Amino acid sequence: MEPLLHDLPIEQLNVRALRVPTSRPEADGTLRWEHTTMVLVTVQAAGVTGLGYTYSHPSIAGLIRDSLRPLVHGQPAMALEAVWDRLRRQIRNLGPGGLASQAVSAVDAALWDLKARLLGVPLALLLGGCRRAALVYGSGGFTSYPLEVLREQLAGWVHEHGIGRVKMKIGLGPAKDLARVAAAREAIGPDVALMVDANGAYERKQALALARGLAEYDVCWFEEPVSSEDLEGLRLLRDRVPPEMTVAAGEYGYDPVYFRRMLEAGAVDVLQADVTRCLGITGFARVVHLAEGYGIRVSPHTAPAQHASLACALANIAPLEYFHDHARIEQMLFTHVPALVDGALRIDPRTAGHGLTLDATAAAPYEVDAHGRRVGPS
Ligand SMILES: [Mg+2]
Repeated sequence: MEPLLHDLPIEQLNVRALRVPTSRPEADGTLRWEHTTMVLVTVQAAGVTGLGYTYSHPSIAGLIRDSLRPLVHGQPAMALEAVWDRLRRQIRNLGPGGLASQAVSAVDAALWDLKARLLGVPLALLLGGCRRAALVYGSGGFTSYPLEVLREQLAGWVHEHGIGRVKMKIGLGPAKDLARVAAAREAIGPDVALMVDANGAYERKQALALARGLAEYDVCWFEEPVSSEDLEGLRLLRDRVPPEMTVAAGEYGYDPVYFRRMLEAGAVDVLQADVTRCLGITGFARVVHLAEGYGIRVSPHTAPAQHASLACALANIAPLEYFHDHARIEQMLFTHVPALVDGALRIDPRTAGHGLTLDATAAAPYEVDAHGRRVGPS
């Protein structure tokens, strides 16, 4: 006899790490990097495969294999709240947050994709079905880019993809930042929303003074003007920058309590959350609903192919981040990436799950072990 859908067991979990060099050296106001690592989880039930991933360190592939896989095997593929609760309890002594939460996030995302595929419905529909396409903002403009690359990238999003808002990194010091912002504004024209992200590079008063300079170029979004640990500082900025300027933060949130503290402090106009960090889709949905209670919208942070389904599912969503680094990797490694049309990512209503499928041939050269050493063909 066929098992009831309710009891259908999760049969397999596999994990691999893929390290992809960036298109050119990338940096923001406080960090530099030359490659990006995706840790990718697949889960199976009844011959159907679900896929999820996080951007992290390759060492968490071992954590997922050793500590999380035994908790998932044999569990009901439909009862994801229960599985999520088990996973969350399991990381208690590993230090919930950071790498452990990223590991849970990848597993939870794969399980939701599996559930949607088992039911034969798009993930966006299973999770709520609010819209068919999710507005994005182009994001990159790294501090390591020469001016001509900065201008070309931002203008490309506007003119080639119809994106109406773009974000660049700052944090090189006020004078350099303002010169780069001036160049960006000139490249995109007066009607496109210009956003900046300092990645916590400034102190409170520095950031406040810089905000006044940024307002001269109609910058409408100032992300992490100070460290996102400094909730009072974020609140100070939020209260004192021009009213047209949104203060945003939240990308380092790993659990609902982090986001509650940020919201209670009145630290942001728009909250950011990242499904690849905040305990997966189950955790992300909690953050979106929590923020709604504070009258604050949530802007999905990076990983656009994965966030597209969430942004199409849930009501309380601000435009999602079309992050150059991740958008490029997702297009390299997956087939059926949501199409970017007129500045929005479109969900294919005929595709079950999020639709993403790993292109094994494309991925093979990037496979690495727990230490980041190449294991694929050279
Ligand atoms: Mg950021």
